[in-house]
Amino acid sequence: MSTKPLHVVIAGGGTAGWMTANLLAKRWLNQPVTITLVESPDIGIIGVGEGSTPTLKRFFSDMGIAEQDWMSECNATYKVSIRFEGWSPGANIPAYSHPFISQLDTFSERSFYVNCFHRRMGQDVTTRPDEFLFNGWLAKHQRSPVTPPNFPFRIEYGYHFDSGLVGEFLKRHAQGLGVIHKALNITDVECHPNGDIAALHSKEGERVEGDFFIDCTGFQSLLLQKTLGVNFKSFKDNLFNDSAVVCPTPAQSELPVETRATALSAGWAWQIPLTNRTGNGYVYSSDFISDEQAASELCRHLGVDEDSAALRKLTMKVGQVERHWANNCLAVGLSQGFIEPLEATA
Ligand SMILES: Cc1cc2nc3c(=O)[nH]c(=O)nc-3n(C[C@H](O)[C@H](O)[C@H](O)COP(=O)(O)OP(=O)(O)OC[C@H]3O[C@@H](n4cnc5c(N)ncnc54)[C@H](O)[C@@H]3O)c2cc1C
Repeated sequence: MSTKPLHVVIAGGGTAGWMTANLLAKRWLNQPVTITLVESPDIGIIGVGEGSTPTLKRFFSDMGIAEQDWMSECNATYKVSIRFEGWSPGANIPAYSHPFISQLDTFSERSFYVNCFHRRMGQDVTTRPDEFLFNGWLAKHQRSPVTPPNFPFRIEYGYHFDSGLVGEFLKRHAQGLGVIHKALNITDVECHPNGDIAALHSKEGERVEGDFFIDCTGFQSLLLQKTLGVNFKSFKDNLFNDSAVVCPTPAQSELPVETRATALSAGWAWQIPLTNRTGNGYVYSSDFISDEQAASELCRHLGVDEDSAALRKLTMKVGQVERHWANNCLAVGLSQGFIEPLEATA
């Protein structure tokens, strides 16, 4: 008896879409499952989100993709920490860091938290992470977190990367695992009488039917929110930042191993070191500053000429869907929600 293969359709080809395609294709290799990814040739990806937590390291390791295979192709660098500058001027603290905790920190981590507690109680004790935590030390001395194979501890770290290039890399990898790629503009979503999604219709006249659909269409959330009507809960009352302006600058000659987040007048600016450029952006609240003022402030902060700067404005939809899975559709990535990217964990 032959069974019809399960057909999974992923809508959207940003990092969410291609990471999903890779994970499913690897998991279901040699199973009766077909995976198709439909991506608009005209609507670009969001093209930011270039700093990761250690979860991305686990993703590549689960996929069996070695660092030497993807990092140079994606202009990636190591990230062991986030450095916050100018957030506590009242307390006379110019900067503090948030390093990723590693196995090596088992003993010193506790002393760090004890000192943090005492400092909050008003005592003048040191709370500098580089004096307690291994990644804090690496960040201070701009050292890579890579250890010899026989090193007995696991060091946690993430990466900085070009998200467009990571998407391209993962696309090739997924295609190698059998994922079918279709460059189509989805214009309409056809549903069964029970409400399940039946097929995607495209401007190019193609109909892509499937058994299960994964919505990776970014902030548009074409399937889960627009078609299936799942509610979006805005976090605007608590998270005020709703906009960003980005501006790349040349690569730094000495590459830091940390992301920098600097407090500005109506939000904060990130600085992400890649091998070929530095990614910069200002995340701000449009209730407190106009787009033009934000662009000028970012340029002043970076010391670049506003007239020649390659500025790009983004609007952020901050919140989360009430349900991530409805009928035969699961939303992954920005289509299911997004929060303030301060800790680069979106
Ligand atoms: C300012 C900012 C800073 C961020 N910083 C970080 C960070 O430091 N770290 C981090 O991990 N994340 C960060 N993020 C989040 C990160 O950018 C996203 O989680 C990530 O890029 C995944 O995006 P996505 O694939 O869901 O959506 P997108 O990249 O927007 O991809 C959407 C896809 O859907 C397709 N699509 C849309 N409509 C159609 C249609 N009609 N037909 C066919 N295809 C369609 C598009 O072509 C595209 O391929 C940040 C986000 C923002 C806005």
